Amino acid sequence: MPSKSATRFELVDVALIRLRGVRRTYSSPGSPDVEALRGIDLDITQGEFVAVVGPSGGGKTTLMNILGLLDDATSGTYVLDGGDTRASDGRRSSSERARTIGFIFQAFHLLEGRPAADSVELNLLYRGMRRAERREKVRRAIDSVGLSDRAFQSTSTLSGGQRQRIAIARAIAGDAKLILADEPTGNLDSANAARVLDELQRINHEGATVIVVTHSTEVAERARRVIHIADGKLVSDVHQVSSGSNSESDSAGQSLQGSASSRFPRAREEEDAQSKGRIRFVDMLRDAWASVVSRKFQTLGQGLAVAIAVALTITTLGLSASARAQVSATFDAHLNREVSARWSTGVPNSPPLETIPERVEQLSGVDAAAAVIDLRASTVSTFAESRQIQPHVAIGHIAAAARLSIDEAPWHRGPLEAGEAYIGDLLAKDLQLSSIDSAPTILVDGISYVVAGIITESSRLPLLRGEVVVGPRDDLTAGGPIDVTMLAVTSAGAAQQVAKQLPSALNPFQPEQIVVAAPTDSAQLRGQVEQGVQTTLIAFTLLALIVAIAALMNATLLAVNARRGEIGMRKALGARDRQIGTLITLESAYIGFVGGVAGLLLGMAAILVVTVTQRWAPVFDVVLLPLAIAVGMIVGAGGGGLASIRAARLRPAENLRS
Ligand code: ADP
Ligand code: MG
Repeated sequence: MPSKSATRFELVDVALIRLRGVRRTYSSPGSPDVEALRGIDLDITQGEFVAVVGPSGGGKTTLMNILGLLDDATSGTYVLDGGDTRASDGRRSSSERARTIGFIFQAFHLLEGRPAADSVELNLLYRGMRRAERREKVRRAIDSVGLSDRAFQSTSTLSGGQRQRIAIARAIAGDAKLILADEPTGNLDSANAARVLDELQRINHEGATVIVVTHSTEVAERARRVIHIADGKLVSDVHQVSSGSNSESDSAGQSLQGSASSRFPRAREEEDAQSKGRIRFVDMLRDAWASVVSRKFQTLGQGLAVAIAVALTITTLGLSASARAQVSATFDAHLNREVSARWSTGVPNSPPLETIPERVEQLSGVDAAAAVIDLRASTVSTFAESRQIQPHVAIGHIAAAARLSIDEAPWHRGPLEAGEAYIGDLLAKDLQLSSIDSAPTILVDGISYVVAGIITESSRLPLLRGEVVVGPRDDLTAGGPIDVTMLAVTSAGAAQQVAKQLPSALNPFQPEQIVVAAPTDSAQLRGQVEQGVQTTLIAFTLLALIVAIAALMNATLLAVNARRGEIGMRKALGARDRQIGTLITLESAYIGFVGGVAGLLLGMAAILVVTVTQRWAPVFDVVLLPLAIAVGMIVGAGGGGLASIRAARLRPAENLRS
């Protein structure tokens, strides 16, 4: 191991690259091992321009991957710039790559659909360089390949030759001293290929070591050294002293070796200071956002999955609030307001019938009360028809106390008086009683009554629609003791309390003779119903979330698969595994955020539609807003989670192969 001072002293002579006995065997389960490299010894000095040629499958790409620290030799040693290297030494190799090596591939591997400058900047981004400095270097690099007018054009609209020159700009933007180009002209026509070669040659003249894999004889002719690799072995290594046309380039190369050595150590010191400041979070946020925006359709699809999940969550939660409010309202409107009591007039001290409504209505919380007495079944008739039914006598506000809907005769007001009757609509039809405006009369058990109204609805005493209710009569107890039913309607929630007070209000001396019926434990019952509604809706919501996360996971995994080249490139440019994971997670979180907002709007619209059609009062909770965004981001991150792990684990060497 040479000492530091010795390194500096011998800098020109020490090989930039030194391979000894390098082998690379690919082994995958189920298929025979492939010996891609079978013992390579190679020295490359700083400032050289080396062409690597040979048949397809000979091992050229494998060699380049090892030289670029994208892959490790199975055995043998690789000394780069005086230091022993291993690609599997994650952190070190990624920062080493980022500052020493520039890559150019046949497939370009630019950031698709984003401004050309973004791709060039990527290399500097992962070195934690400040924005202003990055911009300056990007501008210079793009200028130097003659594409300054295309710097902010989308890569998708550039020609192949332009793309490759942008890739060259990226390789040189960070002042890499080693440029590795694997078939850079493979996808280009001869004019563009020549242009790309000019660039590579220029970079070499400025001091960088260039190693280019090529099938093109033109490229090989330009190189001063041609290495032939076949069947995993170095077949020949030819130094072309002068490649015909210009012998000046030879001497220029020689002299530049000196200037290069004075240039790069400075760059390196600068890097050491920078490598401590890793990529800034704002830069990551910006990069992730640009990445999301550049893939519009895919983003739209994923955002929609999130939006639907959030909309379902918001809808179910919102509807559950509305529905619970509705359940409460229904409870209060009916069961929780109805109290009744029964007793026989044969009991001593039972209250006089005509005083019952008054006694009960005196209690606080009672809205209306009436006593109902069932008569013997008897004949009810009009001039046209007659029927055998059971009539009832009502004392007090029967319409309010029994919650009847009544088509009242225009002349009638207040409770039923003696001689008046309400008749059920079904019975009225049977008796062919069409209009009550002319105060028709009916005969009940031989007594004549004026019809004061037609009962059209009766939820508490449903049979009333086929029966008749008449006003107070004097002869009720003439035939002996009778059963009395008292019906009361209380204000919301007061039923329990009223029920307790009823017996002593009706019969202070023998309250135990009064049988009271009230909703047993309404609060608890209501709670149970509400709970039932909520549990169902929450289960539904959870299901929606799981489906959304699964859908998003699948979509994101597919997306990462489609972006393997890009991710491989990012890693080659110095991105660490964790940073790639963060990128994918941030992208998912963005999609989650936007999807969350869209889902909130969708959900609120759905709640409105449902509540309006159900005639419920919509309940919007302000909590839904942060909740929607939180759910969106959780779904986004959850859906992106697996994909981020997969992306972080992608090995660059395999994924950069075109
Ligand atoms: P070249 O670039 O010269 O065409 P490569 O280095 O790509 O050659 O490949 C050398 C040999 O290694 C070929 O036989 C190829 O099929 C094999 N090979 C390359 N990569 C892998 C891999 N990941 N797994 C198995 N075999 C591989
Ligand atoms: Mg190859």
